[in-house]
Amino acid sequence: MTLLFEPQPATAVPIAGSSSTLPVRRVYCVGRNYAAHAREMGKDPDKEPPFFFMKPADAVVPGGGDIHYPPGTKDLHHEIELVVALSSGGHRIPVERAADCVYGYAIGLDMTRRDLQIASREMGRPWDFGKAFDESAPLGPIHPVSSVGQKSSGAITLEVNGTLRQKGDLADLIWSVPETISFLSDYYTLRPGDLIFTGTPAGVSAVVPGDELVGRIDGLGELRVRILPPL
Ligand code: MN
Repeated sequence: MTLLFEPQPATAVPIAGSSSTLPVRRVYCVGRNYAAHAREMGKDPDKEPPFFFMKPADAVVPGGGDIHYPPGTKDLHHEIELVVALSSGGHRIPVERAADCVYGYAIGLDMTRRDLQIASREMGRPWDFGKAFDESAPLGPIHPVSSVGQKSSGAITLEVNGTLRQKGDLADLIWSVPETISFLSDYYTLRPGDLIFTGTPAGVSAVVPGDELVGRIDGLGELRVRILPPL
C-alpha cells in the first residue's frame, strides 16, 4: 500500500542554541490559569480543576513573525503564554515526576477570535472556532531546561506597538507546570513533542492589521509577531 499523497511534515520549532528542531505532536492549552485574567473574563478564579482546549499542531507558527488577520472575526485578541515542550510523557504521571517530562520552555501567543469564543461559550458549544484556527499559535524558540532551568517564576509581558498591554508573573499560575502535566496525564497519554500553553495573565485586548506584538518572559528572550491584512 502506498500513501495517496505525501503527508504534511510535522511542524518543527527551533531550539535555542541548537541546529535541531522539535517536531510538534499535539497542542494542549489551559484556560483561565491566572486569577486576574479569570476575573477580566467574568469568571471566579477559585482553584477549580483546570480545563483545556486544543489547537491543531499546524496552527503553530514557528519563530513567530508575520501572521494574517484571520477570517470570521471582528475581535482578534492576544494572549501571551508560557509554553511547555515535552520530550517524554506517559499517563498518570505523579506531580513529583512531571518536571522530568519537560524538554524546555518557550514564549507563545494563544491568538483568539474572542467574539466567536464568547459566543460558543455562552451557547455551550465547543471553542474550536474561537481558538483553533490557522496561524493561531505563534511560538518562539524552545529554550532547553538544561540551559534555562525549570520556570516557576519570572515576569511575562506583552507589548503592542510599544505599549504594555499584559503583565504578570509565572509565580501567579493557578495550576503550576508540574500540576498541569500531571492532571492532563490522567486524561491523555502524553508524548514527546506535545506542547502545553499554560494560560495568559490579565490585559488581553484586540489587535488589528499593522500591529506589532512583542512578548517577553524572563530568561526566554522575546517573541515578535506582526499582524498582516487578511488573506
Ligand atoms: Mn490562552
